[in-house]
Amino acid sequence: MSGISHPEAAARFVADDARAHWHDQALWWVRKKRDVASSAVPDWEALRDAAAGIKAHTLSRIGDYLEEFERNATARGAKVWFARDAAEHNAVVHGILSERGVTKLVKSKSMLTEECHLNPYLEARGIEVTDTDLGERIVQLRHEPPSHIVLPAIHLKKEEIGELFHQQLGTEKGASDPKYLTEAARQHLRRRFLEAGAGLTGVNFAVAETGGVVVCTNEGNADMGTTLPPVHIACMGVEKLIPRLQDLAVFLRLLARSATGQPVTTYTTHFHGPRREGELHIVVVDNGRSAQLKDKVFRRSLACIRCGACMNTCPVFRRSGGYSYGFIVPGPIGSILAPGRDASAYSTLPFASSLCGSCSDVCPVRIDLHHELLAWRQEIVKRGLLPRSKRVAMKLAGWVLRFAWLYRLAGWLARRVIPALPRGLVYARWNTWGQQRELPPMPRETFRELYRRLRGRP
Ligand code: SF4
Repeated sequence: MSGISHPEAAARFVADDARAHWHDQALWWVRKKRDVASSAVPDWEALRDAAAGIKAHTLSRIGDYLEEFERNATARGAKVWFARDAAEHNAVVHGILSERGVTKLVKSKSMLTEECHLNPYLEARGIEVTDTDLGERIVQLRHEPPSHIVLPAIHLKKEEIGELFHQQLGTEKGASDPKYLTEAARQHLRRRFLEAGAGLTGVNFAVAETGGVVVCTNEGNADMGTTLPPVHIACMGVEKLIPRLQDLAVFLRLLARSATGQPVTTYTTHFHGPRREGELHIVVVDNGRSAQLKDKVFRRSLACIRCGACMNTCPVFRRSGGYSYGFIVPGPIGSILAPGRDASAYSTLPFASSLCGSCSDVCPVRIDLHHELLAWRQEIVKRGLLPRSKRVAMKLAGWVLRFAWLYRLAGWLARRVIPALPRGLVYARWNTWGQQRELPPMPRETFRELYRRLRGRP
């Protein structure tokens, strides 16, 4: 996906008022579940400290842990590949498949393969790819990317999914019962699992001490995709490493609670070497991560465990939808990662935040997201990437805030002049969001004037 203007894309999402409200409430419901689950763990804050510490330590010695992981994984019979970028990653996966004559691949959720655009790459080379996570399959059938890293189809209503399944899977017209639709998807996917020559999974954690990889899912699709076909390819970014098996306990307690409010994911599968008469290939990808690691300010965001909690809590994400970010990882963490890849294309993303700090409060690995967003804003200004209109507005605001008399004059003008302007001009240009939300118009009198009028004071 290429960079887009967040305000423009968000305005398109907000134009569908019903969907915007529903999206907001659906994610807030997940956020509240996270609060209930985390508050039931007495040592929650200590777990967050421990997770942040483990991640910081691992990132500071990533080279050593990579070597240890490769040594141990190889000793267990896995083949470890290293890819510098997306192109190398795709070529390695394609090489493994084509050498074995595989033409059908089942995939369980992997944001890394989305980042590398693996599906179109393989499909252009005659390999049929089926995403087997239900949400992922839905967006794949719609030829769309995921709109959320944990809930890929959260932007869709069940009626839209019913219509999609009717057209693509032959379900009854008008059927939208989630149970019925899930069963239809299950039957459809089961055939794909049986026909596949290989299964590809993402990796939640890679343990250097054991050389094993751990995959967390709720649907069991990763397990089906790795036990039926003989070849398993596990793709991971270098940041998925953790040093020891005992560190895993810290992250497993944090991950599911932060993501969906569950105590633990339904399936937590450990792959230590290939299954009997099978093959396990682990592809470790850099794709810009080493460059980020060198950056003192933004390296902390490499600790992300992709739980999605910062998205569920973010007032901007909830109201503007995942596609408004134009990057494969949306929300607060995406707004930090995307400009790191291409600051010019994603220059609007660091501004897609109220800087309320709610993202940092819920982050299980204590990434100081709102501070990093602020740092990116400064960086965007320094690199001259701020639009001219915003630069001028900020300069004016700076002057207004510097002098008390100017501030008072601006306040007087705002009270007297703006309400006198034609309503169409004010609302169409400056208050689109408020108008779409059917908020009452701005009061024409100040609070002090209202108070005096109501109390009959001069
Ligand atoms: S930045 Fe933190 S809250 Fe956001 S997805 Fe990553 S780990 Fe979760």
